[in-house]
Amino acid sequence: MSLAEIVGRIREAERVAGRPEGSVKLIAVSKVQPLDRVEAVLAEGHRVFGENYVQEAQAKWPGLRERFGPVELHMVGPLQSNKARAAVELFEAIHTLDRSSLAEKLARQAEARGACPELFVQVNTGEEPQKGGVLPAGVDGFIAECRALGLPLAGLMCIPPEGEDPAPHFAELAGMAERNGLAGLSMGMSADFETAIALGATHVRVGSAIFGARNYGAR
Ligand SMILES: *Cc1c(COP(=O)(O)O)cnc(C)c1O
Repeated sequence: MSLAEIVGRIREAERVAGRPEGSVKLIAVSKVQPLDRVEAVLAEGHRVFGENYVQEAQAKWPGLRERFGPVELHMVGPLQSNKARAAVELFEAIHTLDRSSLAEKLARQAEARGACPELFVQVNTGEEPQKGGVLPAGVDGFIAECRALGLPLAGLMCIPPEGEDPAPHFAELAGMAERNGLAGLSMGMSADFETAIALGATHVRVGSAIFGARNYGAR
């Protein structure tokens, strides 16, 4: 599907939900995609991208930024604490803040740099052992901890369990954000971004619907 079609579907979902046009930001998740597909989306004028791996992003984006100008980069993959510094240097937003050790690292980096990326706390709404994210019961406490460290929180992020109806997970995340006074909701991917927008998503992370299927073998 083309970028224009996805943008059209987002605008339509905003309209159906009675939300202002342009209130949802499209993050084009370009992890593992061949460079020519990423260049094509840049050539169409899109400037907001998501990546999952710090090393891959470091290899890819400095050169692309040189050629295409400023690009807003969002880290949407699990972030190891030893990559926090590199991530803060490269990304405008991090969607996967999910533990105290990472919060402390990011707070130190933010203090040293006098600037901090936009931060989303990842919530493991499905309570899946293999997945990152704070468990629902720990969300309020973790948000308070981040705020005590002086971290500017933009919102919450979740990845619902595969094969489940995502709607209850999106609704739960929206409720957690509201009761904590957070405006940002990073939720919705290729298969479910319209559902996420209906339930309040402010950031949708769409990969394969824009770029085509990922071929992990080719990396
Ligand atoms: C890969 C990825 C996406 C994009 O997934 P698609 O199903 O290809 O749209 C979104 N969010 C996260 C966290 C991802 O890892």
